[in-house]
Amino acid sequence: LIRFNDVSKRFALKGRTQDALSGVSLGIARGEVFGIIGPSGSGKSTLVRLINRLETPTRGTVEVNGVDIGKLKAAQLSAVRHKLGMIFQAFGLLSSKTARQNVLFALKLAQKSLTDADHQRVDDLLARVGLSDHADKYPSQLSGGQKQRVAIARALANAPDILLCDEPTSALDPEATQGVLDLLAELNRDLGLTVVIVTHEMDVVRQICDCVAVLEEGRLAEVGTVAQVLFDPVSDAARALGKHLL
Ligand code: ATP
Ligand code: MG
Repeated sequence: LIRFNDVSKRFALKGRTQDALSGVSLGIARGEVFGIIGPSGSGKSTLVRLINRLETPTRGTVEVNGVDIGKLKAAQLSAVRHKLGMIFQAFGLLSSKTARQNVLFALKLAQKSLTDADHQRVDDLLARVGLSDHADKYPSQLSGGQKQRVAIARALANAPDILLCDEPTSALDPEATQGVLDLLAELNRDLGLTVVIVTHEMDVVRQICDCVAVLEEGRLAEVGTVAQVLFDPVSDAARALGKHLL
C-alpha cells in the first residue's frame, strides 16, 4: 500500500544541511497498524509527511497504491490526499467552529456542495468516535481526548484508506491516551483502515501496532513485527526503546 524506496530527505537551513532521513526503504501493507518509533529528531515526522507529500524526497521515491506520488500532478495529488487522513499531537482543530462544524469543514473542502446524506455522515462519524453528546461544543469546551476524537472524525470525513497519526497521544493523560488508542484499533478492525502511527513510546507500539519501524538519526535501525522488535531486537536503538517494558 505504501512503499519507501531508498528515501533520503535533506533540509537546508541558513546555509547548513540536515539529513532528516537517509536511505530508508520499507513497506506498509493494507490493513496494518504500523508504528514509527525513535527519539526526538530521528526523522519520524518527516517520514509520515513524505507519505502525503507535505515533504518531497531529496532522493528515492514514495509510492502509495503503487503510484510514485512524486510524479503526480496537482489534481491527481489532491485525489490521493483525500484517501489519506492525518491527525497531530496538537489536534489542529479550528477554534471558531464546533466539533460538528470542524468535521463538516473537511467535507466542504473536498466537494462543491453538501447534501443531507453528508450531514448524516458527519453525525454518524461523531457517534463512531463517541462524541454525539458534544457535537455542538467548541474545542475550548472539550477535553484533550475529546479534541483528538474530533480530529479523528474530521480525518475520516472523506473516507480515507490510510490514517496518518503524528504523536496522536503525546498531549494526553494516560486515560485519554488509552481511549484514543482503543478507538484507532477499533477503526482499523471495523473499517479496515490502515493506521500509521508515530510515537516515541514503545508502550503505544506494544498496545496497537502490528509492525514497527525504528528510526535513529534518520536511518532505519530496524523494521519488523512488534514481537520481533520487542522481544528479539537486533539494533541497540530498539533495545533501548523497549528496555523498560521487559
Ligand atoms: P520529534 O520526536 O521531536 O517530533 P522527529 O523524529 O519527528 O522528532 P523530524 O521532525 O522528522 O523528527 O526531524 C528530523 C530532523 O530534521 C531534525 O533534526 C529536524 O531539526 C530536521 N528538520 C525537520 N523539518 C525541518 C525543516 N523544515 N527545515 C530544516 N530542518 C528540519
Ligand atoms: Mg515529530
